[in-house]
Amino acid sequence: MDHKPSVLTARYEVGRLLGQGTFAKVYFARSITTNQSVAIKVIDKDKVLKVGLADQIKREISVMRIVRHSNVLQLYEVMATKTKIFFIMEYAKGGELFNKVAKGRLKEDAARKYFQQLINAVDFCHSRGVYHRDIKPENLLLDENENLKVSDFGLSALAESRRQDGLLHTTCGTPAYVAPEVINRKGYDGAKADIWSCGVVLYVLLAGYLPFHDSNLMELYRKITKAEFKCPNWFAPEVRRLLSKILDPNPITRVSMAKIKESSWFKKGLNSNKQRKLEQTETQAMAPLSRDGSGPSSNGSSMPSEEAKQEQPMKPSNLNAFDIISLSPGFDLSGLFEHDLLRRETRFTSRQPASVIISRLEDTAKLLKMKVMKREPGLLRMEGVKEGRKGLLTIDAEIFEVAPNFHLVEVKKSNGDTMEYQKVVKDGMRSALDDIVWVWQGGKEPPQQQEEAQYLPPPLQQQQPLQQ
Ligand code: ATP
Ligand code: MG
Repeated sequence: MDHKPSVLTARYEVGRLLGQGTFAKVYFARSITTNQSVAIKVIDKDKVLKVGLADQIKREISVMRIVRHSNVLQLYEVMATKTKIFFIMEYAKGGELFNKVAKGRLKEDAARKYFQQLINAVDFCHSRGVYHRDIKPENLLLDENENLKVSDFGLSALAESRRQDGLLHTTCGTPAYVAPEVINRKGYDGAKADIWSCGVVLYVLLAGYLPFHDSNLMELYRKITKAEFKCPNWFAPEVRRLLSKILDPNPITRVSMAKIKESSWFKKGLNSNKQRKLEQTETQAMAPLSRDGSGPSSNGSSMPSEEAKQEQPMKPSNLNAFDIISLSPGFDLSGLFEHDLLRRETRFTSRQPASVIISRLEDTAKLLKMKVMKREPGLLRMEGVKEGRKGLLTIDAEIFEVAPNFHLVEVKKSNGDTMEYQKVVKDGMRSALDDIVWVWQGGKEPPQQQEEAQYLPPPLQQQQPLQQ
């Protein structure tokens, strides 16, 4: 990196360049505190500003933080300076999947394994309301265990802008993976467009080359629009059938994720045991982000242990850069979260002492007909009494002291269904706590001159706008 800002070097040792895309460079790095390997994607704000994307990217960052799946490359943290945005991401040691295909097509079983992982990841994100819109080889990475990691989920703003700009489009290679309805710029269904791209990926894995290719771009478009492709003779009948249903130029009749998962070719080798295991990793992967400020958690689950919590129940150091950015008036991402239908956490600041906050939370629990399960200086856990769609709804409210009589309260779902959680927060908790809340995250209008004000996450003492 030409210029490494201290916000980054304080926490990460930045190493070699891993790759480069249209808007970004990706570097290997290591967390100084945990020694964990990460990848850092550096996006030039100038470049994205030119195409008017800054706001959308910020919105998508918040989306990326909610899609946690073992086959989705995880976003750990976001940092920003005046000119750059840094995405601190999971490092995919195995590199791009297509480096493998470039050496020759894959055996059917190997291709199926990657396709299963791809479909599971993409379907999971769809269920969270997140569409990729740019599934292509460069975004399919492998970890050290040869597991697929889909990257750039939620960054569809970048994909979109490239498409809208004919020039960018051609310079960034062929649109070989893009669905016909996307090329034709009709309004399109993100899920169906992603399914098409998954079909192209499957074809490439099995064939070792693209289903649609032509040196003439118009001719290529024509082939895609007509879904004009041939399967090589080594494709088994079952997979031919599946591919013809996925690569259906009509998004309405194109096969759904559910149907793909039911197909005999997809299911082969997936016994119910494995399926169950997959589902388990899904829930594990839903654990919250590290909040200890020491960077990515090493084990996916980052809930601090009970002892640790008791020792340091309300330390300001519990805030990470993301929290600071969200709290700082200059770089306010908070306005974006309101639109996030699937958020599992919400925050508010309060100028009341912790004891008052706790007792008001208890009152709120009563009002919401929830039981208080745990009460500690910095934490209150409440649990629903009725079994919900995914078990008992459990909500943790954790209180962090930012300054004397200035607290940040993080309300987080620790069990149960996200939609149910959100309903409780939206319909009950917000109004019940209104008089002790100083600012809800998402309660403010983002500042008008946003770009002017986007600086480094300021030091904790200075980013305190509410102290005067
Ligand atoms: P674009 O994002 O412009 O569509 P792209 O996907 O190729 O294209 P980036 O997302 O910027 O661009 O990534 C560039 C390259 O860096 C990738 O193709 C990949 O080889 C490498 N890379 C990206 N993220 C990681 C990661 N987490 N671990 C390892 N390598 C990565
Ligand atoms: Mg990418």
